[in-house]
Amino acid sequence: MRRKLAAGNWKMNGITASLSEVSGLMAAHPEPGCEVLLCPPATLVTAMAALTKGKIAVGGQDCHAEPSGAHTGDIAAVMLKDAGASHVIVGHSERRADHAETSDMVRAKAMAARAAGLVAVICLGESDAQRDAGETLDVIGQQLFASTPDGATGTNTVIAYEPIWAIGTGRTPTLAQIAEVHDFIRSELMGRFGAEGGLMRVLYGGSVKPSNAAEIFATSNVDGALVGGASLKATDFGAIISALSAA
Ligand code: PEP
Repeated sequence: MRRKLAAGNWKMNGITASLSEVSGLMAAHPEPGCEVLLCPPATLVTAMAALTKGKIAVGGQDCHAEPSGAHTGDIAAVMLKDAGASHVIVGHSERRADHAETSDMVRAKAMAARAAGLVAVICLGESDAQRDAGETLDVIGQQLFASTPDGATGTNTVIAYEPIWAIGTGRTPTLAQIAEVHDFIRSELMGRFGAEGGLMRVLYGGSVKPSNAAEIFATSNVDGALVGGASLKATDFGAIISALSAA
């Protein structure tokens, strides 16, 4: 049994005043029927964790593979844990693109997350050109294999399938395309990790909004969503949480 997860990625958005959206979300959804996670900028992790008190989990958006050292501007997994985080996103396509992060680096970050006691939310996704070239499953298979460390379990790892061309664009794959990739990821996870691979949540991400959430959540092997833009507003993210709770 996999508990559904609605995860929000605030990206480089949010200041202290933005926490009012979180208060509004908690007031409107005091007992959500799914797990809820918000990943604000690192500057807000402590304050958000103090506000949510575990009712909504709080995560970082990236961590360094090392626990400490001369890495100006970076943040260690143990620091996120210390600030109140329980999760960290690793390998988001914006990090892979903006910071040239490879799957090997992402795997090292996921291992650092685990060592610090954080759940790693490992992101995968193909580009437009790769999909057009019919390479989607090859790309996803390679990223999944190389980005996911040995010893991954349903407790320490969440996978997020996020086609790059669907992020922030308003474009989404067809439900059949989502099902094809999610079924493939499930089968790869079970092939590598056995029963534990059946326990790992596989989220869909890319232009999820209140109007398309229910149909996406009804799709095979979709255990929730990683939501960018629509997680910034309590009303939109709340509607997505409701759709997932009802799925
Ligand atoms: C994301 O950043 O992970 C994402 C899915 O963004 P959006 O929902 O805005 O497409």
